[in-house]
Amino acid sequence: MAARFPFDNSYARLPPRFFARLDPTPVADPRLLRLNAPLAEQLGLDPAALAGAEGAAIFAGNRLPEGAEPIALAYAGHQFGHFVPQLGDGRAILLGEVVDREGRRRDIQLKGSGRTPFSRGGDGRAAFGPVLREYIVSEAMAALGVPTTRSLAAVATGEHVFREAALPGAVLTRVAASHLRVGSFQYFAARGDAEAVRLLADYAIARHEPEAASAANPYRAFLEGVARRQAALVAQWLQIGFIHGVMNTDNCAISGETIDYGPCAFMDAYDPKAVFSSIDSFGRYAYANQPRIAQWNLARLAETLLPLLAETEEAAVEVAQAALGDFATRFEALHRAGLLRKIGLAGDDPTDLELVQALLQRMAETGADFTLTFRRLCNAAAGPEGDAALRALFRDPAAYDSWAPAWRERLAAQPGGPRDRAAAMRATNPAVIPRNHQIEAVITAAVERDDLAPFEALLAATARPFEERPEIEPFMLPPREEERVLQTFCGT
Ligand code: AMP
Ligand code: MG
Repeated sequence: MAARFPFDNSYARLPPRFFARLDPTPVADPRLLRLNAPLAEQLGLDPAALAGAEGAAIFAGNRLPEGAEPIALAYAGHQFGHFVPQLGDGRAILLGEVVDREGRRRDIQLKGSGRTPFSRGGDGRAAFGPVLREYIVSEAMAALGVPTTRSLAAVATGEHVFREAALPGAVLTRVAASHLRVGSFQYFAARGDAEAVRLLADYAIARHEPEAASAANPYRAFLEGVARRQAALVAQWLQIGFIHGVMNTDNCAISGETIDYGPCAFMDAYDPKAVFSSIDSFGRYAYANQPRIAQWNLARLAETLLPLLAETEEAAVEVAQAALGDFATRFEALHRAGLLRKIGLAGDDPTDLELVQALLQRMAETGADFTLTFRRLCNAAAGPEGDAALRALFRDPAAYDSWAPAWRERLAAQPGGPRDRAAAMRATNPAVIPRNHQIEAVITAAVERDDLAPFEALLAATARPFEERPEIEPFMLPPREEERVLQTFCGT
């Protein structure tokens, strides 16, 4: 049966200067590494029709499904604070959009599909490593309840890509609420193309912020909506120890989804200054800097919208400042509430927050694993028999011992019994995250031994992250000293 995609391509109906039309470049020997069948179903696709050679050909870009209108999107962006007026989809092609079973419009994009007019010096291709990494991490983020782009398929190309070495090539099929970025607006603003900025803003409002259309100032309401989503997103990142790694404005999605998994990583030992990205020498995108950077990115978006926000520049700046003014407070409130949930307290007493801060400080000082500490705290909340495994996570277990009594006292004052409290905490503190050393092991097995079993095992473990079960135990453990991954790479 032929694979049918119910395409309805709204972006391709925007004026030609928004993108370049071109087909993906076919690859030598497409082989399907994985198809995300539940996601395919959600999108109204037939997984059975995509599971074989036809799926491999489509997800490699060798065959275009009927109704696809392949385009590479134009965008600009601030990379590490420096403005680049033209970036664009240099290694990605949007096949088109479908409206999914729940009525949500979603982009289907091939990443690693060959050169485009935006490729600059690049080859337009992707290696196995970054493709498997993005597949694993994006799907784990979805399972953790974090807004994110998704991975529909991964295909081996049967070709090599040349980085520091010759590496096997792959294509990822990414699904996104849209690929609109802060950098999409910057592209037109930098060209003084006010009409395009307005068209793009109207498009974004229709797609992501339809209520804004009827607001007194629709563009202000839009900006507020983007800011709200970024505040919520970054708060969620911090609560699971996620570091995006390249929060450039071109990697900041208007939809509020996490996008562009490059040198991203979950931290093992808690360290607010943690940076993994090999290209982030100054720690601009360190764990604890992420809220500040999100706010900086929003200010860049606001700049592009100034002509739409008010009649005069002075008035527009005031509107923009008011629209973004409560970002920090909003983020802080969400972040505090999240941290309190993690330790099982409601925050009705001002000392609750001090308890969280004290715990985090002790974790940082004694190298405690972020994910495991909070997970084992759930058992400790059920009763002191949970203490032994928890205190062992601190290099100096006394750091936990001297903290726990005050926490226990506050816990006892909460409504509900210890079992309910532990259960609620287990629903917010994941048992398993895709740890860097596990991802590296998966990639090594796939690249060096053509063995995808570890990839499947890690996907299965992280698909139900809040549920402890015997088969995920190996994935719950932090790396041994010799397994630690100190740097992650963009893979471009
Ligand atoms: P990223 O680091 O993935 O956010 O990409 C930044 C910019 O570099 C985007 O414009 C990408 O399209 C482009 N780019 C990254 N890798 C490649 C590649 N292999 N070939 C062409 N362009 C690339
Ligand atoms: Mg990018």
